Formats: sequence, C-alpha cells, structure tokens
Amino acid sequence: MIRRRALLTAGVAIAAGAAWPSEPATAQTTRTVVAVPPPTGRPVIFYTPHQDDETLFMGQIIARHALAGREVHVVLVTDGRASTARNAINGLTSNGWWQDHHQPEREGYAPLTQQQLSEARNREFVSACGQLGVWPANIHLEGFRDGTLTLTQATGVLEKYDALFPTAGHYTMSWDDATSDHSILGQALRTLALADRTKWNDVRWTIKPENAHRVPGAKAYTMPRDVLPLAQELARRAARPYAAWCPAAGAFAVGYHSVGPTYFPRVEKGELNWSHGL
Ligand SMILES: [Zn+2]
Repeated sequence: MIRRRALLTAGVAIAAGAAWPSEPATAQTTRTVVAVPPPTGRPVIFYTPHQDDETLFMGQIIARHALAGREVHVVLVTDGRASTARNAINGLTSNGWWQDHHQPEREGYAPLTQQQLSEARNREFVSACGQLGVWPANIHLEGFRDGTLTLTQATGVLEKYDALFPTAGHYTMSWDDATSDHSILGQALRTLALADRTKWNDVRWTIKPENAHRVPGAKAYTMPRDVLPLAQELARRAARPYAAWCPAAGAFAVGYHSVGPTYFPRVEKGELNWSHGL
C-alpha cells in the first residue's frame, strides 16, 4: 500500500486490474491510471499554431511537464478557420481519412461556415489539452487568422505571455517548417532569443517527425522509462477529441479530417516527439 501511495503521489501510473468483478484481469483489461499533480512548478508555455499541433508534435512533451507538476500553459495562436477540412466535412471533397464524401443533408447537419469550423476545432483543442494534463485556466486562445500570421503578431503573443510569466520556458514549432504559421512562430521566438539570450534562456522548438533528419540539432524528446508510457497514454487520449464525430453535439472530427494519414497514427503508436534548441 505504501508503494502504491508513493507512486500516486509522484504522479505515476498504476496498472490496475479489471474494473469489473466478472472479468478476469488479462492484458486486454489492464488499464493505466494517470495521476496529474496540481501545477506548482515553474511555468512552461507551449505555443501551438493550430488546433492539433500541440497533440501531434508536442503531446508527449506537454504531458511530461504536466506529470512533473510544472505549470503548463498552452496558447493556441490562430483560429484554424481556413482549413480545407471544411470542404471534406461539407461534402465537397473526398477525404483521406473518411475515405468517402460526406452528405451533410442526409447525415443531418448543415454545412459549416469558417466560423463554425473554427469553433468546432477549438472544442477539439480544449478537450485535447484537458487530456494532456493542462488545467482549464491555463488554456489560452489568441484567435489570429490562420494562414496569414505575421511576425509582428507572433512576436506580440510571445512577449505577452513572457510578461505574464517571466520565469517561464517557451516551446513552439521550428522555424524550419513548410507551414507558414508554424515557421513564423518559430522565427519570432528565435529572433527574440538571439536578441536577448538571458531573458529568453529556456526556449525550444518542436519538429515534425518527417523533418527531424534535416534539422540541425534535432533530438527525440526522451524521458525516464517510468514516465514515458504515461506521457504516451496522455498523448493518445488527447488525439481522441480530434476523431470525435457527432454533428448533433458540434463534434466534426476536424483534426482527423485535416492532416495527412500518418500523423495521428504516430501518436497512437506512441512515437516520440522531436525538438531542437537555438
Ligand atoms: Zn499546424
């Protein structure tokens, strides 16, 4: 019992037996209980360009910090309204994940406006952050138009949160990224860090896995063996809201409709995130 309590206090999982008395405790029924401690440590801020980048490219890193008791903030910088996933959801195009055309009228929902798409994506994002161990008060939505984020806007966001949390560490996507909103955020953080290395002394950039081979200093983000399965599990759970399809409840699985077919399966498999420094 003492061992169990010590593990729980440390925010470490217990592999519990089956919850139902009639079921034998087999590998299938073993579940992971993950205790995320209250956020009391030094703040760390993750700036995600779009709804889903935090789960796809930073999920295990965010979870690891939450499990360690750090005060984790996630800032969603854009509104994600321009995603072409809207065409698939509205039945105009087929989709690699759905493998078919939607028929909104027959399926019982009205085609989404850009605003409605953005709101659906925000619901997915907030739900995902909840699974990554981020407390509701520490989830922030900035709402800049996606696809057109400027260096000035990105710099303004970074400076705003640095002023609010002066001792915080900062993570965003790498400047070496083909998606404009990603590289702009990466570039903004890089410029600030180069101009004042003392003030911006704890900064990291996350990398899409397919780019890791070409980015200088790219490292797989590793963690102690007892923590890794928990971080993998939280990232996996964070992916679920992005697959939730229930139009009547405002859930349109925008995440799974919007990214290439390899991204979410990598999260499911527990593949490591990648990052680099200055
Ligand atoms: Zn993105």
